[in-house]
Amino acid sequence: MELPFLTIKEASELIKGKELSPVELTQSILDRIEDKDEKLNTYITVLSEKALESAKKAEEEISRGNYIGPLHGIPLGLKDIFITKDITTTCGSKMLENFIPPYNATVTQKLLDCGAVILGKNNMDEFAMGSSTETSYFGPTSNPWDLKRVPGGSSGGSASATAASLCLGSVGTDTGGSIRQPAALCGVVGMKPTYGRVSRFGMIAFASSLDQAGTLTKTVEDTALILNAISGPDPRDSTCVNIPVPDYTMSLKDDIKGLKIGIPKEYFVEGMDKDVENASKKAISMIEDLGAEVIEISLPHTKYAVLTYYIIAPSEASSNLARYDGVKYGFRASGAESLRDMYFKTRAQGFGNEVKRRIMLGTYALSSGYYDAYYLKAQRVRTLIKNDFDEAFKKVDAIVAPTTPEVAFKIGEKTQDPIKMYLSDVLTIPCNIAGLPGISVPCGFSSGGLPIGIQVLGKPFEEETVIHVAHAYEQHTDWREKRAPV
Ligand code: GLN
Repeated sequence: MELPFLTIKEASELIKGKELSPVELTQSILDRIEDKDEKLNTYITVLSEKALESAKKAEEEISRGNYIGPLHGIPLGLKDIFITKDITTTCGSKMLENFIPPYNATVTQKLLDCGAVILGKNNMDEFAMGSSTETSYFGPTSNPWDLKRVPGGSSGGSASATAASLCLGSVGTDTGGSIRQPAALCGVVGMKPTYGRVSRFGMIAFASSLDQAGTLTKTVEDTALILNAISGPDPRDSTCVNIPVPDYTMSLKDDIKGLKIGIPKEYFVEGMDKDVENASKKAISMIEDLGAEVIEISLPHTKYAVLTYYIIAPSEASSNLARYDGVKYGFRASGAESLRDMYFKTRAQGFGNEVKRRIMLGTYALSSGYYDAYYLKAQRVRTLIKNDFDEAFKKVDAIVAPTTPEVAFKIGEKTQDPIKMYLSDVLTIPCNIAGLPGISVPCGFSSGGLPIGIQVLGKPFEEETVIHVAHAYEQHTDWREKRAPV
């Protein structure tokens, strides 16, 4: 098999057995990036030299008998939201076009400590605000299944690169669906762990109470391998919970007999694409055939989730993005006549329209006189949404539902209509609001040949159940064998 098409697991077995050279593997993917990424635009920065250097280092270590584990010598992508020491980190924005961080994010460091080879920084919506990777200052990313279509977002570069085998997997972030939605639209596996499972230190903040790092991979098994590497407490992120991290590969079991799976009736929304509905229902009946007990449940506050999110996320963003003022780092506009003028010009020229829209929404929602009506109210609804899940999880072990209401849409189709764009996340946002773990796995294709995903949600810190159900389902399907025609 051609090397870029290997899964992480396959490559790592070969590397461990000294049958595959990490340098050769890395080179083969760099060649493929060179060949394909002009059309796809999945990378903002490709680190050819550095990647080959670390592959070489891995190879030398391994030949000396110092194999350190399943990510040793494995070439991965990294969303350009994770800061990387001495390597430009843009967050998809002109504001950080030339920003070179002096230290690594915890996720970056953990990957390096496991011997992973970082191929480059994946394209994304500006500051992770978007569902299509079209708001990137560095141009849109294409979906490898149809170049005229979006890969989803905001981790669209990571998802498209994984689907097109321009990396063996990638680490992204999910604030309202930014891993699971692009995974569904590109036909790969995308996992958002529980809020607090993976450190946010050095992950550029969008909405701090919702942001969570996670994985984009070809298989659930590969998800477990990366998750093992990046999870765990971090003294530099006080929201990162100090509880032991299980070995997620132990959850890769095929048997789900007796597990109780809840199907939320609210997730089969009006206007849902028929192909998505049918594929999801087929997946659910397959899960039932595998011996799980499928139970209809209700999450009655689902309809408020998008509204709640679009108060909370922009509010937090407006505060987090206040730091980009042209003083400390990043872009500074020239020709200003005063300090105030410099702030204005910098922010006017440095941010794109979607980011400005979020800052305005958030500033408004937090302003005195409106705080109680919007932000405080949204926080209360957040609790109601969380309570819905708590109630449901008294009856079921996991929840299964479609990941998105439709398949990949055309580039440009929703850019003029923010509300339409926001609605692509109706089914992913509640999980973030409640802080739960969730994974999207491929469950079929539309009549037009575009991928469809189904998500499994679990109780807080029960990533194991989520991985277990997703893996068991995946093992009984062969969707992953179909390759994007790029
Ligand atoms: N699409 C959602 C938004 O635009 C979610 C983004 C994300 O998860 N980072 O905010």
